[in-house]
Amino acid sequence: MPEKTIFKKIIDKEIPAEIVYEDDHCLAFKDSNAQAPVHLLLIPKKEIRSLAEIEQEDQQLLGHLLLIINKLAREFGLSDGFRTVANTGKDGGQTVDHLHFHLLGQRPLDWPPG
Ligand code: 5GP
Repeated sequence: MPEKTIFKKIIDKEIPAEIVYEDDHCLAFKDSNAQAPVHLLLIPKKEIRSLAEIEQEDQQLLGHLLLIINKLAREFGLSDGFRTVANTGKDGGQTVDHLHFHLLGQRPLDWPPG
């Protein structure tokens, strides 16, 4: 068995996280190294490594994740806008090999990223 990722350990409640949303399919929690006043991570419970490895069968799950981003953005008061990021692979800056969407907001965010 490959070693569990840190996010799988959070799903399995083996390590703590500030969970802000959970349902049968996904989990959202605060990033431990927040880059904005609101910085959440939304992850599927299904073990998908990244956006580079999604499959047709994940279509409904991915749509669900986007709807939860919309719900969280409203609940966290991000009415001035927000940024959703899915770093993917080495060049994309991904450091945890479990698909995750960053949700950042409550400050103006620069573009382009570094
Ligand atoms: P990536 O660089 O892969 O796009 O994002 C991984 C994110 O996970 C980083 O922003 C990092 O701060 C966050 N992170 C890494 N380990 C933990 C952890 O144990 N708990 C929480 N809440 N966030 C983590």
